[in-house]
Amino acid sequence: MYGQLYRHLLLPLFDGVKGRQTMAHWRDAEASQWWSRERLEELQLNSLRSLLTHAAQTCPHYAEQWAALNLDPAHLQSLQDFTAWPLLTREIIRRNRLRLRTTAAVKRMTKATGGSSGEPLQFDLDSGSNDRRTAMTYRGYDWAGAAPGTKQLYIWGTAVGNVPTWKRLKMDLHHRFDRHLILSCFEFTPAQMRQHFERMNRYKADVIVAYTNPLYEFARFLKRESLVPVKPKSIVVGAEKLHDFQRELIEEVFGAPIFETYGSREFMLIGAECDRHQGLHLSIENVLVEILNEDGTPTPHGQEGNVVITDLYNYGMPFIRYVNGDRAVAGLEMCSCGRGLPLLKKVVGRQLDTLGTPDGRKIPGEFFPHLIKDFPAVRRFQVVQEKLEQITLKLVVDGGLTLGEREQLLGAVRKCTGTEVDICLQMVDDIPLTNAGKLKVVVNAV
Ligand SMILES: [Zn+2]
Repeated sequence: MYGQLYRHLLLPLFDGVKGRQTMAHWRDAEASQWWSRERLEELQLNSLRSLLTHAAQTCPHYAEQWAALNLDPAHLQSLQDFTAWPLLTREIIRRNRLRLRTTAAVKRMTKATGGSSGEPLQFDLDSGSNDRRTAMTYRGYDWAGAAPGTKQLYIWGTAVGNVPTWKRLKMDLHHRFDRHLILSCFEFTPAQMRQHFERMNRYKADVIVAYTNPLYEFARFLKRESLVPVKPKSIVVGAEKLHDFQRELIEEVFGAPIFETYGSREFMLIGAECDRHQGLHLSIENVLVEILNEDGTPTPHGQEGNVVITDLYNYGMPFIRYVNGDRAVAGLEMCSCGRGLPLLKKVVGRQLDTLGTPDGRKIPGEFFPHLIKDFPAVRRFQVVQEKLEQITLKLVVDGGLTLGEREQLLGAVRKCTGTEVDICLQMVDDIPLTNAGKLKVVVNAV
């Protein structure tokens, strides 16, 4: 009831009051998701041409760069032609932010990405494109039964530091109004997890929305303590890579299907799963997503490559062929649901650091989450390499590890690193998350 009221009355009302177009964009997106691929790509090409023309005329950085390369938006005949255009990196944005902005009169807002990659970034967008990306998020979350107005429980990073009381009250009011209960994923001690569990069961949410790793940590805790949560209808996870073993355990403990989403501060929702779970449908009316090899050529379907994104509507500070640092696998051409939106088969996320050894071995960071999952007592961990000859495993453990478990863990790591590396197990009380609520799992500080 509240959900319907919220969606059909309150949201449109807000749009009217604030001069936004969110609901109109959402309605359009509900229709266009069923268009043929050809029609969607035609829409993309038209949007892209307009964006490039705007950038060439009003953004000093792009104007100069493209003129020097003799690239003219008027000559863009197909999406394939676009592969000739230069890439944009975080470093370029940091150095040229003001020159990337448009000189045209658009209403701009400023945002910042968290430091989970160790590289915070400030950027701008125009408020019209904010309405479009919000609409894409509504649509994608709706696929997971999590449209605005549904009763949602968030396990999420909450504001850190000194937040003024008025701001906290305002946020609380917003959450109540949106029917969101926010539980902090910071300071995830057993006592707090038990409290979260009790609040969760009283709240009886339709949907749980969570960062992947804290939810996995929480699910392991519930299983270990034989605590049975009230079943939601679905679970939405994002912000961090979802491993298959994490999906299995979370679905088992909460008794509901997981919907993976992929987004970022720069673009909001880039992709989301529908109920067929065959991959993540890309929000291609809003973003042009390319998967590229190191040499800039398109990565064949089924293989992993670098994610490169163009926001088709951010006229305030255009992101054109932005390398966001994530890796992903391009997927099947079509999903069995019939939507024309292409799929990402898998989001690998930000690549974990690779560790090295004196005898030249390379150990992919992915090794560690797979290893640690077999030690249920380990609640959180971090692997740090400060010297080539030494790797430290920091572990937050409930009740300690038995001698056998320690040997088993050390043995598995040694097998991988060889004998020239000293492996140090360090039991710690906590491993702080980054300001964005994420955990840097593997750190190569050599
Ligand atoms: Zn689908």
